[in-house]
Order: sequence, then structure tokens, then C-alpha cells
Amino acid sequence: MPERETLLDRFCRYVRIDTQSSDKSSSYPSTEGQKDLLRTLVADLQAAGLSDAVMDEHGYVIAMLPSNIPAGHPAHGKVPTIGLLAHVDTYHEVSGKDVKPVVHRNYDGGDLALPGDPSIVLRASEEPELAACRGLTIVTSDGTTLLGADDKAGVSEILEVLWRLREDPSRLHGPVRVGFTPDEEVGRGTLHFDVKRFAADYAYTVDGSGLGAIEAESFCADSAHVTVTGVDVHPGYAKGKMTNAVRVMSELVLALPRNRTPETTEGREGYLHPINMAGNVSEVRAHFLVRDYTEGGLHELEDVLRRAAADVERRYPGAHIAISIDPSYRNMKYAIDEEPKVVQFGEEAIRRSGLTPKHESIRGGTDGARLSYMGLLTPNLFDGSMNFHGKKEWVPLEWMDKAVETVLHLLGVWVERSR
Ligand SMILES: [Zn+2]
Repeated sequence: MPERETLLDRFCRYVRIDTQSSDKSSSYPSTEGQKDLLRTLVADLQAAGLSDAVMDEHGYVIAMLPSNIPAGHPAHGKVPTIGLLAHVDTYHEVSGKDVKPVVHRNYDGGDLALPGDPSIVLRASEEPELAACRGLTIVTSDGTTLLGADDKAGVSEILEVLWRLREDPSRLHGPVRVGFTPDEEVGRGTLHFDVKRFAADYAYTVDGSGLGAIEAESFCADSAHVTVTGVDVHPGYAKGKMTNAVRVMSELVLALPRNRTPETTEGREGYLHPINMAGNVSEVRAHFLVRDYTEGGLHELEDVLRRAAADVERRYPGAHIAISIDPSYRNMKYAIDEEPKVVQFGEEAIRRSGLTPKHESIRGGTDGARLSYMGLLTPNLFDGSMNFHGKKEWVPLEWMDKAVETVLHLLGVWVERSR
């Protein structure tokens, strides 16, 4: 068996590669740095024994690990192909350049000062989950960048799973498809993803969340495009004639309920969120995000918007307000509920790792939510990373190890239940 690096060394090597994505770029992947890591991963997959690993023209890295179930075994030829997915990009709004991972061994349960920026301190009093990690090995950035454990923890863990399978051939598994994807953080991770070519029956993303988490719920999402048409005339002679679309759109935004905004909601509450607006006196266009956990809830919010628009229109003679709704994605629970075993086997794997499964609902969309609607059911399993999208990101090495163990158990559960 060739010498190979540890999970920690691999993780530290990956986070040093700048893979920050960009929501301003129109290329795919959105940044070149992501391809540096993706190319590295092709080589690393090949080194782990997945000789068919390739990167396609969009940057997706795909590889196959064939089943090792011997002929004559009751599950031979019966285990579905399981996909394991992780994204290589890091959050677009926080620097991911020159990341210097800091390894805090035998963490003492107190505050963690980050050496690159004394103002960035992880306070045990503010983070009970961190305080409970006394004695563990915590990895952070040096405070000047994010760490990128979201989702390089997931990427490293999948590689570790492959090495452990290689080192212990007695662990039986069905066919495993591995996929490393770009641009998840800018919502375009599945834009060119070819579900047919990936050819998995079910998949799991291994992505940003704490110990024992399994996520099979996401928002339902629509976009509402609102166009206000006004009446422009020379402002010096506008009395009784002008209808200013800028004023009408502003009225509309202020007429919406204040308790249904991202700033005022949490948990399972949905929201109506104006994200941009542009135009002039004669026409203003605005884009609203509509989010809720149910389709019914989405439609209620859209009715709130329509009623507010009708009311504002009445108050501004000459104004016309048009609203068009574009469906964006749906709560993956709708798709997953049709085959609950995908989640049940994930829960069983978490329990076999000695943990209690924690169901979390994602207040957003994920690659998994989109894939679930593209025909590939894809719940998310934890990668162990915490405080993602910021400079205070941290991940315990021991939690990453638990994520590896969970995925190994998961592959075993699929074998057991496929006889
Ligand atoms: Zn992520």
C-alpha cells in the first residue's frame, strides 16, 4: 500500500488553494482557482485508486469506485450506485486567498485568538459547541481569511473514505460515484451537472454542518419580477400629470410586512426579500426573492405581494404594476419523502458512528435540493465545519473523522439493506 497523507494534512493542503467563487463572473467555473483544486483532485483520486477520474469541460470532477461485493454474496449486483458529492469553492464574499490553517491541538475549552488578526477571537462564551470541544484538535484560519472547511472538509473526508476502503478490502460496498463540483456558493453548482452521466441512483452531499447533522429540507424558492410603469412628463409642468414609478416602487417595498423579511425571520419562517431595483420615472424594475418551506407558504407570500401592489396601484392613478413569478427550486423534502430510505440509511449511519442524528432545515437552496429535482435524491450529511462563510470558521479534526466514519457506515448500510 503506498504511503499516504493524513486527513489533517490533506485538508490543510486543500484549504491553501484559493478557490473563492465569484458572483460577478460569467465564466464557468466562476474563478480559475477552483480548477487548480479540481485538477489536484483528479490526481488525488487516481492516487487513491480511482483510475477513471476526470475533469470535464465545466470543471466537474467525476470518478467511479466499482463494487467489491463478491459473486455469491446475497447483495451482489443489487446495491444501488451511491454518489458522494462535495463542492470545492469557498464563499464568494470573504477572502479565500493565502489561507493559513492554524491547528490548535488539545484545545483547552477557552477563547481562541487567531494569530493573524488579534480582533478575531472565537469566544467560548458565545459558542457553546466550541467550548464543548475541550481536548480536541481544532482547525481555524489565522483570522485574515475564511478557512474553507465549507466544503474542503467534505472534499478531504470523501478522499479519506476512498483510502480507507482501499486499505480494508473486507469492507464491502456497492458502486460509488464521486463528484467534486464548483460554484456551489454562488448557486450555480449544478448548472452544467449531467445527472445521467453521473449515473448514481442516490447521492449525498458531504457539506457544511456540525456533528451528526443530516439535512433533507431546504426552502422552496421563487423569484418575483415586479415592473412599475409610470407616466413621465417635464417635472416643471408635472402637476396632476406625472406618476413617478420610483415613488410607486418605493411605496410598494415599504407596504410589505416588516415581519416577513430575512432580517426579521429565522427557523421555519419564510420571507419576501427585495434584492435589487433599477429604473427611472417612467419605469422601475425590481427583483424579489420569495422563500418558504412549503409551496403553499410561497403562494401566500406572493399573494401578499400582489395585494400590496393592487393597493398601491389604486393610490397612484396612472401607475401600472406587473408581477411575474419564476419558480427557482423546491424543498427537497417533497422529492425525498417519496423514498424516505435515503434519509433513513443516513440516520442509521450516523447512529452507528455513535452520534444522534440531528435534522436541520437549510434556510436556502443547496446543490442537493436542485439535484433532488433533477432526478437524483441528494440529502446532505455533515462535514463537521462550523461558522461557515466567515473568518471565525472552525472544524474539529475529530468531527471530520466522524464524518468519514459515517460515510463508511452509510455504504455498509446500503449493502445490508440491498440483499
Ligand atoms: Zn458548503
